[in-house]
Amino acid sequence: MNLEFTAEENAFRDEIRNFIENNYPKHIEGKGIQDELSPEDMVAWHKVLGEKGWSVPAWPEQYGGTGWTATQRYIWGEENARVNAVMPLPFGVSMVGPVIYTFGNEEQKAKHLPGIKSAEVWWCQGYSEPGAGSDLASLKTTAVRDGDDYIINGQKTWTTLAQHADWGFFLCRTDPDAPKPQQGISFILIDMKTPGIEVRPIKLIDGGYEVNEVWLTDVRVPAENLIGEENKGWTYAKFLLAHERSGIAGVARSKRGVEKLKDIAKHELLDGKPLIQDMGFATKVSQLEIDLAALEITELRTLAGEQAGKGPGPESSLLKVKGTEIQQRLTELTLEAVGIYGTPDADSFPDDGSNDFPIGPDYAHHAAATYFNMRKTSIYGGSNEIQRNIITKMILGL
Ligand SMILES: Cc1cc2nc3c(=O)[nH]c(=O)nc-3n(C[C@H](O)[C@H](O)[C@H](O)COP(=O)(O)OP(=O)(O)OC[C@H]3O[C@@H](n4cnc5c(N)ncnc54)[C@H](O)[C@@H]3O)c2cc1C
Repeated sequence: MNLEFTAEENAFRDEIRNFIENNYPKHIEGKGIQDELSPEDMVAWHKVLGEKGWSVPAWPEQYGGTGWTATQRYIWGEENARVNAVMPLPFGVSMVGPVIYTFGNEEQKAKHLPGIKSAEVWWCQGYSEPGAGSDLASLKTTAVRDGDDYIINGQKTWTTLAQHADWGFFLCRTDPDAPKPQQGISFILIDMKTPGIEVRPIKLIDGGYEVNEVWLTDVRVPAENLIGEENKGWTYAKFLLAHERSGIAGVARSKRGVEKLKDIAKHELLDGKPLIQDMGFATKVSQLEIDLAALEITELRTLAGEQAGKGPGPESSLLKVKGTEIQQRLTELTLEAVGIYGTPDADSFPDDGSNDFPIGPDYAHHAAATYFNMRKTSIYGGSNEIQRNIITKMILGL
């Protein structure tokens, strides 16, 4: 496999690097997921990309995709990671969007795809329930047909950013008597302003607020919001999960994180010498870089498969496990490097204009919060244990 980029691909990189440098919104420059981002900040870059026609690169061109090759999309991801760009949220762009253009009808495509492309409409994912996470097919939220509507009752949980969502895609049980639990599930789009929906916050260990419980009580939803066929929702749900998982690997972002870590370790001292010169610490950083390089090659191999027309399959489980393990090790090593300076709660730092200054160097701020936050990565999108089960069955054939 040739890992060199072609002259055209390098020219493409220059073009998009130039576009990012000139168009990335100044007011969110340098801000990352642990910074205070308003809902408007979270979609600011998405809106610029929507106008340029670059917000949904992976979609088929007829629905607004760019027609870029898988390698070009990879370069696009790398260049955005280089500036730590706040990327379009996945719920519309890489989750429900592909489900709608693949399984939805023409009305649904016309109604929902433009709002996803332009970032006008914010989506959330209503899959998990208190008793249905790994064992998703045991979900209990019901949708009962009543004339032209469904009446929906139940509770979803861990619903990311539902507090800002205009619409949600929900898995609901439409046939409680189906022979297998997977067979009685439907995929339904719900306007989050419909009466009977209550969104309750769940506070996370890093102090942030990004997930919710969503309670649905007698929520009346037009039956035209059903995607595909009734009771076939499991097929669409699995299709969506494969797309969700391949995006979670985050190789380009981890590469940037490793560079940042090495920089920190040059400035932090251990026994009077830069931490990066400590054999024990340097070994851990090197091992991380080796694992990341191996993951990158695996991802490029998957991309080559996609280029040849293969959709994301069980390899996405492999990318998810390794990618998230690396993300977690990166945050562990960063916290180890900055030590106690990583622990102050970033939100307690004085506002601009105060005489007090935050404790420790700027690069240490948020290190503990990020460490805690990234524990989620081995859980969401299907836990890593479940991904190993999938790899065992689907790739190793055991
Ligand atoms: C930050 C965050 C954001 C999320 N966002 C969303 C969202 O927007 N929408 C949404 O629908 N869901 C969301 N989730 C939910 C996520 O998909 C579930 O947490 C995940 O699927 C695991 O389910 P669970 O939490 O119920 O754990 P459980 O399924 O109860 O699992 C508990 C533990 O047992 C292990 N385990 C379970 N079954 C097996 C098995 N068969 N073999 C081996 N080990 C097993 C698991 O790996 C885990 O370690 C989010 C979760 C987090 C943490």
